[in-house]
Amino acid sequence: MTDTTKKIKFEDLGLSERVLGAIYKKGFEEPSPVQALTIPVMLRDDTNIMAQAQTGTGKTAAFGLPLIELINTKEKNVQALILAPTRELAIQVSDEIHSLKGKSDLKVIPVYGGQSIDQQLRRLKKGVHIVVGTPGRVIDHLKRKTLNLKDIDHLVLDEADEMLNMGFIDEMEEIMKYTNENKRTLLFSATMPAKIKSLASKYMGKYEVLKVKKQTLATNLTEQIYYEVKVSDKFEALSRIIDIEEDFYGLVFCKTKNDVDNVATHLAERGYDTGAIHGDIAQNQREKILGQFKKKRINVLVATDVAARGIDVNNLTHVINYSIPHDPEAYVHRIGRTGRAGNQGTAITFITPREYKKLMFIQRVAKTDIKKSKVPNVKEIIATKKKMINEDLIAMNAGEVKDVYFDWAKKLLEFNNPTQILGNLLSYCFDEELDPNIYNEIQELSGKKEKGRDKGRAIDVDGKSRLFVALGRKDKMHAGKLVQFIIQNTGVKNKKIQQVEVYDKFSFITVPFKEAEIILNRFQRKAKNRKSLVVRAKAK
Ligand code: ADP
Ligand code: MG
Repeated sequence: MTDTTKKIKFEDLGLSERVLGAIYKKGFEEPSPVQALTIPVMLRDDTNIMAQAQTGTGKTAAFGLPLIELINTKEKNVQALILAPTRELAIQVSDEIHSLKGKSDLKVIPVYGGQSIDQQLRRLKKGVHIVVGTPGRVIDHLKRKTLNLKDIDHLVLDEADEMLNMGFIDEMEEIMKYTNENKRTLLFSATMPAKIKSLASKYMGKYEVLKVKKQTLATNLTEQIYYEVKVSDKFEALSRIIDIEEDFYGLVFCKTKNDVDNVATHLAERGYDTGAIHGDIAQNQREKILGQFKKKRINVLVATDVAARGIDVNNLTHVINYSIPHDPEAYVHRIGRTGRAGNQGTAITFITPREYKKLMFIQRVAKTDIKKSKVPNVKEIIATKKKMINEDLIAMNAGEVKDVYFDWAKKLLEFNNPTQILGNLLSYCFDEELDPNIYNEIQELSGKKEKGRDKGRAIDVDGKSRLFVALGRKDKMHAGKLVQFIIQNTGVKNKKIQQVEVYDKFSFITVPFKEAEIILNRFQRKAKNRKSLVVRAKAK
């Protein structure tokens, strides 16, 4: 087994300046182990290679970069065929090579079933150097003689184990018959089961084995779960996950910069110590936020994949996929941030019912197990909060509490019932924190509403919420003035506020979920022991 050496640079691998430029532009800082192993061997001579490295370790660039160097763009013929198991992977490999080719004239196209064959034909005719294809569609083209593999120099079998798992052995063998004897064959795989070895010995003649040791930090220390939630419930689910954890320290991944901003803003409004990083945030600002995160001054960091790349933070308790990652590799990358250095971590992926198929694809390709679970319910969260309060109270040492408090306590207990007094005190301190009404309803996607605490709650009909406002006629409010007051304080549009009812000491309004969220956040208690001005209405 070849071990990998640390601190190898891309410059050490024999790549040209032009390709190096493209690599840095793409944002790769140093070669991954499989790249450090493979690139020099591929550039050295034309040996066949069988390379094994875990999913998400950069195998595409490991063969893609040398191919970019080796292909003669002055010629117009197909010089390399890359076989990939699925259309997603074919597209991904093609995109990755395209993004690494820099200013080269290299032409690479994906060819897969489901896409119009005529369109593929036109592109093939124009002259293509690298074809990345799924086995079935490649055979179609070979039979139609629209693809000629007689002159190829390189045949890459990417994700070879997956291709065999999917039963493509016959197709692979057939495709090989259309190629010439002198090409080199490069096999890349995450695992090396016996059937891969027999395939190699049958078709590859002599070959070199390049193997990257499996890193234990991968996914096995990470508990992986997913929740099915509506998009509009994701934020509530996130809040609950954070609240139920005694020491939450996690990364929250969102798809877009906008999502990152929204989630981080909402979190901050709800009182969490949070920060956001994405491509539009200046580098020095990003570093500052990252610094705070590393020091745990903030414990929830919201990020895009790109911004989070290369973040090296240990001991995360959680990685939350607020948006499902776009591919299995991104999933492995993201969740690889928990469970590091021997610490157990939890990765939670939010999916909408439509994303279920995608999750299963990720699970299959990443060869991992993601279990369905339920968003913590409010009862559980409150029980956890109480437990934490208890622990804090019990853990406080005599030295930390000033004498005046002991004297005070003694006096209070002299003439009062201790249970009553302690009860009062707990209620005085924690009423707000333990108020179930700070949580919003989450709709169970199985169709049933959440049981338990929500029984006593105003039922939200048609995506609307009824809100209770602690202002009434005695505060000189009337309907118009109340609406104005809400608009001025929250920016919510006039027409969204409906069914305004003003009573002596309080009022009610009805607004859509989104606006309710905005209003509730805006009027959340500012001082610890004050009631919020607006809360969800209780059921009548
Ligand atoms: P594999 O085929 O081994 O599963 P991929 O080639 O799909 O992995 O790479 C996974 C991800 O890692 C891709 O998003 C790719 O752009 C990225 N990547 C590859 N090499 C590097 C590198 N040297 N530095 C940073 N990111 C990299
Ligand atoms: Mg791959």
